[in-house]
Amino acid sequence: MYRLYYDFHIHTALSPCGDNDMTPNNVVNMSSICGLNCIAVTDHNSYLNIEACIKAAENNNLDLLVIPGMEVETQEELHVICLFPDMQSIKPFGDIVYSRLNKIPNNEKIFGPQQILNADDEEIGKATDLLITSTSIGVYELVELAKEHNGLAIPAHVDRGSYSIISNLGFIPPDLDISLIEFSRAAKPEELLPMIRKSTGKDFAYIISSDSHYLEHLPDASNFLEFEFKPSAYDVIGKLKGLGRK
Ligand SMILES: [Zn+2]
Ligand SMILES: [Zn+2]
Repeated sequence: MYRLYYDFHIHTALSPCGDNDMTPNNVVNMSSICGLNCIAVTDHNSYLNIEACIKAAENNNLDLLVIPGMEVETQEELHVICLFPDMQSIKPFGDIVYSRLNKIPNNEKIFGPQQILNADDEEIGKATDLLITSTSIGVYELVELAKEHNGLAIPAHVDRGSYSIISNLGFIPPDLDISLIEFSRAAKPEELLPMIRKSTGKDFAYIISSDSHYLEHLPDASNFLEFEFKPSAYDVIGKLKGLGRK
């Protein structure tokens, strides 16, 4: 049995709230030091630093699988982690998301730079539109859009009081086609799951991720998924898609 120690919610220096030290090499090396063997790079509404992170993991010969992801803010201003098996899948998805972002120029003095970096941690550009705003994509449409691009959508940090599906909608709509939700590390699943079941009539599977914006917030390996063999990104996405489905 192979234990995949994961964290499916990590920001880089591209996210305005992500620390400038969250460079591709720092993120993958620190994740590896923490004992993780799978991370998802999930910047706000953008995929532009993922390839550099995948390459940095390869260049450093790390036993670390990097899954392409994005944290999308829906029309309802709630956050959803969208994960994909490869860059070919996330790019057209991400381009749609970006085209439907409510465009506000980034004010670096307030939000900091949104750095696009290469696999050597060199700045190769900046995202000029503020990435932490909502899109015009509603949560139902987003779930379908992720599916159409071979990925899956996972409502983020549902235990939190802001930008979560429960804080913003009051509950998880039972007819939303999801079976997996994300808790933050502070969450107590044993208390939350019965409440969620009561309000939706549904049982959900869950993952716990760190939502790290700083290197020191990257978690020690504790949450894992089990596989019969060492999985590829396709295997991981396939497993996540099946969690919670009867
Ligand atoms: Zn979030
Ligand atoms: Zn986040």
